[in-house]
Amino acid sequence: MVYEYDTGKSTLYFDSVELPPLSQEKNIIGTCTNCNSDVQSVSYHNHEKNNIVAARCVKCNLFNAIVYDTLWNWLGEESISSDIISKIGSSGNKIIEPRIEAPMDTEELHYLRSIPANKLSAVFSPAEIEAMFLKASEQKYVRQYLYRARKKYQDFNDLFDIMLNI
Ligand SMILES: [Zn+2]
Repeated sequence: MVYEYDTGKSTLYFDSVELPPLSQEKNIIGTCTNCNSDVQSVSYHNHEKNNIVAARCVKCNLFNAIVYDTLWNWLGEESISSDIISKIGSSGNKIIEPRIEAPMDTEELHYLRSIPANKLSAVFSPAEIEAMFLKASEQKYVRQYLYRARKKYQDFNDLFDIMLNI
């Protein structure tokens, strides 16, 4: 069992299953096993019939997924193995992996792939980047996002001297 957490989206991942937040209420829900300080809820999630609360120690930052049954009986807790920060621009090194199932090997795609992901994410939103990759690989894309991205091609060129034409 692996728990991961996306801080930007407040989403918990249980063995890669996405569990969106049902609530982001902050409650003191226990005591830290590491330092005895208060443990505060970050977000509440459902998985099958269980309630899972992502909770963080206010002092040492220990981050756990606490599992309860439907009647809120405590079942156990697991540490959250990684905390993904999805805020764009916070690291600049975030690797964008567009969901491409069967990419066409086009020149446009090669060109797009040669551009460092941190440059793309400095200007474009993840949805816009995805639309650009999908368009370049001749797959279905969301027109609205590509349209928005196109409006920023000039800015992108001004910033990085890279001309896009997708
Ligand atoms: Zn602690």
